[in-house]
Amino acid sequence: MSQLFDRVAFIGIGLIGSSLARVMIRDKLAGEIVACARSDATLDTVKELKLADRVTHDPAEAAKGADLVVIATHLSAYAEIGRRIADVLKPGAIVTDVGSVKQAVVRALKPLLPSGVHLVPGHPVAGTEFSGPAAGFADMFRDRWCILTPTAGTDAKAIARVRQMWESAGMKVTTMDPEHHDMVLAITSHLPHLIAFTIVGTATDLEDTLKSEVIKFSAGGFRDFTRIAASDPVFWRDVFLANRDAVLAMLQRFTEDLTAMQRAIRYGEADTLERVLSRTRAIRKSIVDAKQA
Ligand code: NAP
Repeated sequence: MSQLFDRVAFIGIGLIGSSLARVMIRDKLAGEIVACARSDATLDTVKELKLADRVTHDPAEAAKGADLVVIATHLSAYAEIGRRIADVLKPGAIVTDVGSVKQAVVRALKPLLPSGVHLVPGHPVAGTEFSGPAAGFADMFRDRWCILTPTAGTDAKAIARVRQMWESAGMKVTTMDPEHHDMVLAITSHLPHLIAFTIVGTATDLEDTLKSEVIKFSAGGFRDFTRIAASDPVFWRDVFLANRDAVLAMLQRFTEDLTAMQRAIRYGEADTLERVLSRTRAIRKSIVDAKQA
């Protein structure tokens, strides 16, 4: 793959930002990479791992003169970053991101960006429960989906360049409107995380004798929830708040279904239970068949 951008700025270079930076370095997609983070520790790691040509604490300094700005911080930092970079963006620059919620990103950034700057929000649906630049790896994105959510009227060439970048990372790229994205992700990602955090929380509240048994016998299913519930609390706090409406809508449906299961168990409705439990196996098979397991 040949160079796609002369200068790329990463505002936020943790798990996801650093993984994309690794792809850019591997495939020589950028002439120069500038990285911005809040802490010295993160920027020191970036320097040690040679993930950027320059580092800075200042988003405006990073974004100045960049052809592509990738925002890869927690969602709650977006609006402030948008305010900090808006005045220095060069005409024709592309601003993209990797955030797990998309309507909130469009709402936060679109009004701030000057005309002539192209906003192409994106969400690589890939990741791990770890954080920070040392946890990143270039292969994270391979064979996973990336969802772009440009709004109507966005420059087609800008969208094509962002698409090419993610394809170079090995991703399958699709576009969606931001609202649809948030609904789909509420059920495929946000609700499962909410459930995992809650179940592990329930176990944490158990009396001490029971709690030690939970660890010992965790292979019975609990263990799989603990992996998900070990994810970064700040990241997930932001996701639940930024995607409030869709998460609450899916949670409402889920609690209704859970109550139906509760009732079936209480009244010994064996047929109902078996029907629901068999129906869900088919979904697992479809995921395995689609090579997304
Ligand atoms: P992370 O590893 O914690 O990295 C976050 C980065 O943002 C760090 O470099 C942090 O710097 C920097 N940062 C935070 N606030 C900042 C600010 N105000 N100015 C400049 N830099 C700032 O997080 P992540 O897992 O990569 O997640 C980043 C984004 O990716 C989130 O929006 C999330 O929704 C999305 N995402 C995550 C996953 C996943 O599995 N984790 C998957 C898909 C998408 P310091 O270290 O110095 O604080």
